[in-house]
Amino acid sequence: MTSEPLSPEQAPSPRSTPDYTPSASLDLGQVTGADSVLIALDFDGVLAPLQDNPDLSRMLPESAQAIVDLSTLPATRVALVSGRDVTTLRRLADPSPGVWLVGSHGAEVDLGSSSPASTPSPGVTMNQPQVSVAEQRMLTAIDAHIESFEHDLSSGSGASSEPGSGSSSEPGSGSVSESGSGSVTEVRVERKPFSRTVHTRGLDPEFASALHAHVIAVQAEHPGIRVIEGHDITELAVKTATKGDGLRALIAAGSPAAVLYLGDDVTDEDAFAELEGLPTGLSIKVGPAPTRAPWRITDPSAVAELLTRLVNERRAAPPQP
Ligand SMILES: [Mg+2]
Repeated sequence: MTSEPLSPEQAPSPRSTPDYTPSASLDLGQVTGADSVLIALDFDGVLAPLQDNPDLSRMLPESAQAIVDLSTLPATRVALVSGRDVTTLRRLADPSPGVWLVGSHGAEVDLGSSSPASTPSPGVTMNQPQVSVAEQRMLTAIDAHIESFEHDLSSGSGASSEPGSGSSSEPGSGSVSESGSGSVTEVRVERKPFSRTVHTRGLDPEFASALHAHVIAVQAEHPGIRVIEGHDITELAVKTATKGDGLRALIAAGSPAAVLYLGDDVTDEDAFAELEGLPTGLSIKVGPAPTRAPWRITDPSAVAELLTRLVNERRAAPPQP
């Protein structure tokens, strides 16, 4: 079942505005002491510091080591939950065997072939849905729409637009040809099986604003397209799966006694919402954005510290078989 994704306005809907908690003082007791545990982690901005070039994202070495260590502990399952497609996530994260992957914001679920902690039911080992004809039509429209911006840019025909002046669905308008200040005005598009992600990190702000306004205008013609606005990204998705759906699939597969989820972006709020109904769920927001998670830590370094602590504490108190 696919739950309705939270809109950007709804998603933060902070139940609380928690202050930062030092990783060393967070109470991890319900996770370290549980009979079985699922540790589900967003990748970008949580395990890997955000990069201008998304292809350069890599886990902090301490987090990578902690995941290897956690994966070898009994009844301890690690999963990566990302907006990246599974193939890219696997290439960037290079996860150890037994780590489960959720990609494309929950549309793809890869439980792998080796699963020392538990045996998933065969039906959910790999969920890589096909692109329907209607979805392919939307992807084609998205590509054409982005290309029209790039074309205007390269031909220099675009007139400067006011930042935040709203969107225009008319091809040929609303693009910025040159920033004049030597700032970066490159359109970086990540093409995924079910979406296109336009990256604006490091761009000239006026250019980024015009690009964003142009990109989201395609939704006016194709209301089935889901616009996801994250950290310096605008994503256009043709499937409606959320990280909450992905997390639910992982919980169904592993039946863990406790679940820990760490995420930094607006799309992670769907996973936090999923855990609210679970008495043994622990949600931790990474970074300063509004959140419904009750706990918050600062950045990927704090995540590395927390995961390392988790290894040591769970090792010291192994679950009884
Ligand atoms: Mg993230």
